[in-house]
Amino acid sequence: MMSASTPKEKRTELLANSLVASLEKRNFEAYFCPTGKDAVQKVLELIPEDSLISWGGSQTIRELGVTKALHEGNYRVIDRDLGKNPQEVYELHRQGLLSDYYITSTNAISEDGILVNVDGNGNRVAALCFGPKNVIVMCGINKVAQNLDCAISRARSYAAPINSMRFMGNTPCATTGKCHDCTSSDCICAQVVLTRFCKPAKRIKVILIGEELGF
Ligand code: SF4
Repeated sequence: MMSASTPKEKRTELLANSLVASLEKRNFEAYFCPTGKDAVQKVLELIPEDSLISWGGSQTIRELGVTKALHEGNYRVIDRDLGKNPQEVYELHRQGLLSDYYITSTNAISEDGILVNVDGNGNRVAALCFGPKNVIVMCGINKVAQNLDCAISRARSYAAPINSMRFMGNTPCATTGKCHDCTSSDCICAQVVLTRFCKPAKRIKVILIGEELGF
């Protein structure tokens, strides 16, 4: 690993190393990769060939080219993006819950290692909680928040409105950019899930990336 040279890189490396230790105390497997390229390499190292793989709607994994790399590798892939209609996408989400490896990001993570995620349909947080044998969480350093309250606020007040706009939801936040704690039918915050301990140990592998990725 290259050693950090600028103050910003140094801060990222120190924060990431301390967060890796916090995650390990919570029974997660955790890694720090300074660049997105290193992180993609780490994902490919972690997944044995011929594994059954699926993923969530993460912008981070698409930005990094992870889905493309997995399609091109020697894996069996369940790609929800290939569903031709809502019923097919729903079935692919269900099948993804039985994968060997499920790749996702997180909406936020506290400096002491708690993952925070909001989800509308619940498929992504379901996979995080139970189902896939392994889950790989890829997280840009911009998603690290000082404490749990800050992480929840980031997930609900920042990431969720942007994601609602991204999926063209008919929600108040898509109009104002702020969370209104809505109960609209397109609400993407049906589930608010805290993952504070990994059980079984090492089932969830968190890759922290020293770049700004996703929302
Ligand atoms: S307004 Fe609704 S969909 Fe938007 S962030 Fe708040 S709870 Fe979520």
